[in-house]
Amino acid sequence: MTPKVPFNRPCTVGADAAYVREAIASGHMCGDGPFGKRAQALLEAKFAARHALLTTSCTAALEMSALLCGLEAGDEVIMPSYTFVSTANAVALRGARCVFVDIRPDTLNLDEAQIEAAITTRTRSIWPVHYAGIACEMDTIMEIARRRGLTVVEDAAQGVFATYKGRALGTLGDLGCYSFHETKNISCGEGGALLVNNDSFAKRAEILREKGTNRSQFLRGQVDKYTWVDLGSSYVPSDILAAYLLGQLEAGERITARRGELSATYARLLAPLAERELLRLPVVPAECASNHHMFYVLVEGAARRGALMEHLRGAGYMATFHYVPLHTSPVGAALGWREGSLRVTEDLSARLLRLPLYYDMSDADVVSVVREVFVFYGVDCRGLAA
Ligand SMILES: *Cc1c(COP(=O)(O)O)cnc(C)c1O
Repeated sequence: MTPKVPFNRPCTVGADAAYVREAIASGHMCGDGPFGKRAQALLEAKFAARHALLTTSCTAALEMSALLCGLEAGDEVIMPSYTFVSTANAVALRGARCVFVDIRPDTLNLDEAQIEAAITTRTRSIWPVHYAGIACEMDTIMEIARRRGLTVVEDAAQGVFATYKGRALGTLGDLGCYSFHETKNISCGEGGALLVNNDSFAKRAEILREKGTNRSQFLRGQVDKYTWVDLGSSYVPSDILAAYLLGQLEAGERITARRGELSATYARLLAPLAERELLRLPVVPAECASNHHMFYVLVEGAARRGALMEHLRGAGYMATFHYVPLHTSPVGAALGWREGSLRVTEDLSARLLRLPLYYDMSDADVVSVVREVFVFYGVDCRGLAA
């Protein structure tokens, strides 16, 4: 059965498809072509980023970050357990160890107040994850990092077009990682970007991204041949994908604004249930502007979450849960990186339900989803309207 409202549907916004045809017609399909350069320039201009490098995914940008931070066996990186596997995998692939710190109950972001207690002589870096496009408390995190001599890598996979105190997520740490996966607000199917905000990483980032060669310098005429000069891999996306991405980025404000309207409608319609304390709505701190990546509700407990999800799905509305905390996942548990529990992480991850949200969703779709939530709770929904 096709759902009445899927969880996500990628959008095509106009120029993206036309740019793809242009890229194919131009005959330049490998990476760092005209569209890749335009997309990077746009990221740098729009977000006031020092250097933006397109990558094949956010996972790739995180892996590059682990290399740039010089992580080695025995090194420790502080991050939340409530995140996607790629944040931890990038560290694990270097033989380093993730030190999982609990999250804040309001934003589900890394709890900055618990970072210092987790720092040891082996700590090298702090990797905050901006959950749902709402920023971590970056001033505090940066102050701790600077004082303790640690690098900061932002997993801003969900944070494109979101800000903290007016500054774009991904531009606040030494390095920032974006995702353009199909499930994200701005997408080219599979893609990402590494924002290099600390100039001391810029030269090496370019080399790692080009399979460990100085090909970029060669293309600029700075060296007369290119060769193997460092570690690296294939992190450059095709110009066909960059073309699609450019169209999406150009429409970024429009996409963000529409998602904002849908989120506001969800929040307004669900407010009566929140007032009755049947569920909790997302919290956005005053210094954060969200990009409305996600709309979630926190319900009473794991059983209630499962029941509500089944109810919505049965009615054709594809709600879904989110991360299994990494320290409780098969690999995370086997690595034994976390002894003892992470109270807030374990509690909230079991109670969080994400509702459908995508650019082409209609106001009526939001009303239908919310109506079904009211029905589940046995609350009168006759007055509901967008
Ligand atoms: C989506 C996501 C990633 C991975 O992004 P890809 O582009 O698919 O590699 C990493 N971290 C977080 C927090 C994400 O949401």
